[in-house]
Amino acid sequence: MTMEYLNKDLAEKDLHTHSTFSLKMPESYVGLPFMDVDSKEKEIEKKREAAIMLQDFAEKIYDRERGINILHHSHWPWINSKILGEAFTKWLITDKPFHVDTDKCVKCGICSNVCPVNDINGGFGKIPQWKHNNMCLTCFACYHHCPKHAIVYGKRTSGKGQYFFK
Ligand code: SF4
Ligand code: SF4
Repeated sequence: MTMEYLNKDLAEKDLHTHSTFSLKMPESYVGLPFMDVDSKEKEIEKKREAAIMLQDFAEKIYDRERGINILHHSHWPWINSKILGEAFTKWLITDKPFHVDTDKCVKCGICSNVCPVNDINGGFGKIPQWKHNNMCLTCFACYHHCPKHAIVYGKRTSGKGQYFFK
């Protein structure tokens, strides 16, 4: 329900979106014990389907079509956004479990460079440290971009894979 939330916020400023689109992309959330990245085959298939849909969206945007083009018209968006989402926001959006395996880290600085909210003290030549300042989005960009798979999120990422869209 991302776009519903966005439009609600925009309405406060007398703005709105004309059209919205959603694509199913490979799984990247690894912060819960039962969640991991997709298999390579599934990842490739999702990206293949998304590329086809994106072409269609591009044509709709070119034609200035209005409307909502979301993937799932079921009860899941509501359950995920309203029930699970609120608990998730309250308890699971935190950088506290992030640590670095210092034996693996090569101090490249990539993790701090990719963080969208500048939540990591780091950079080339430094072992990264999370700021614990409530800015972390748990987007896991730091975790997925690490070339040495040196970042762990407590014990929850043990044995899990990495993914980001290249
Ligand atoms: S999870 Fe995302 S927001 Fe949090 S520290 Fe890593 S890159 Fe930054
Ligand atoms: S991206 Fe990985 S290897 Fe590079 S500094 Fe961060 S933790 Fe270390």
